[in-house]
Amino acid sequence: MTRRVYNFNPGPAVLPQEVLEIVQKELLDYRGTGMSILESSHRAAEYTEINDQAIALAREIFGLTDDYHILFMTGGASSQFAYIPLNFLNGKTGAYIDTGSWANKAAKEAKIVGKAHICYSGKEGGYKHIPTQTELDIPAGAAYLHMTTNNTIYGTQFQYIPDSKGLPLIADMSSDIASRVLDFKKFDMIYAGAQKNIGPAGATLVMLKDSLLKTAKQDLPTMFKYGTYADEKSLYNTPPVFAVYVVKLVFEWIKKMGGIAAIEKVNCAKKERVYQIMDLYPDYYRGHCDRESRSWMNINLRLPSEDLEKKFISEAKAQGFIGLKGHRSVGGVRVSAYNALPLEGIDKLVAFMETFKKNN
Ligand code: PMP
Repeated sequence: MTRRVYNFNPGPAVLPQEVLEIVQKELLDYRGTGMSILESSHRAAEYTEINDQAIALAREIFGLTDDYHILFMTGGASSQFAYIPLNFLNGKTGAYIDTGSWANKAAKEAKIVGKAHICYSGKEGGYKHIPTQTELDIPAGAAYLHMTTNNTIYGTQFQYIPDSKGLPLIADMSSDIASRVLDFKKFDMIYAGAQKNIGPAGATLVMLKDSLLKTAKQDLPTMFKYGTYADEKSLYNTPPVFAVYVVKLVFEWIKKMGGIAAIEKVNCAKKERVYQIMDLYPDYYRGHCDRESRSWMNINLRLPSEDLEKKFISEAKAQGFIGLKGHRSVGGVRVSAYNALPLEGIDKLVAFMETFKKNN
């Protein structure tokens, strides 16, 4: 028997078991080709089909129209931090909402390329708060407005789509992509490293509106231009074949589950159950952030002492709950409840939290 734990890793993270079973089944002989997809040419018909299907599924799942380019890139979300200003600043200023370490890193890269304006910064306050629309200082004439929808490290998440005041809106959705229903068409660009909600590390999904792409700087090295990926369906050079294949399988899984709306229902139940026990014992399980800023995906909590936190994490691990240690910059416990984490895992964790509090 294969042993599977409840995987609360912040990323790379849990994948749907069904998807892993398909990968296992197809690994040695991909659909009668007599070879693994890992060994296949990216120009082979098999991969062309995977790429085309992944693109079509993304369009369908996110409800995007044909004027969005769906790209599969490499270099993680961190490379997008640089690609964005390289392509879109064009001598203008990039406007950034600084709600956490990743948002801050994105702005830093823009400052290397050109100018960045910080519309709001939660840094001094320990990144506990998501700004309301009125707290945003959005400059007129900027090249774009950049936001991070979910702050993986601090466990905060936008619960609304900001009004960008006419600027193209760009979102890093690395840690909450496909987790809840949004009007994705409100974004001119969405990007995400695949390794939390939609696949393994190695592929970065970029969904880019043609009107924004048309503004991109042209005199850039080939591999640094979004246009190269858009023109060649991400096949100018060798794409991360295996990662895209798994992303396609995860998209098929999302569709089979009933789409993002159905996934959202489960995610909502998961976060409600964890926040419920935190709210029941607010002096024992203390949340890191403002209530209104709470994330559905990454739930940060502190216990009364660091010793208790260590004990919690180690006893949880012994019971098969893996990956609960908080990020070093926040400490405590972080419950990452991505799409593929079953509701049952949360129920068992909540029962563990109840017992742990009683005994400690
Ligand atoms: N943005 C967010 C919100 C993230 O959570 C992460 C990774 N945890 C990154 C960007 C960086 O992603 P990558 O490691 O793919 O560069």
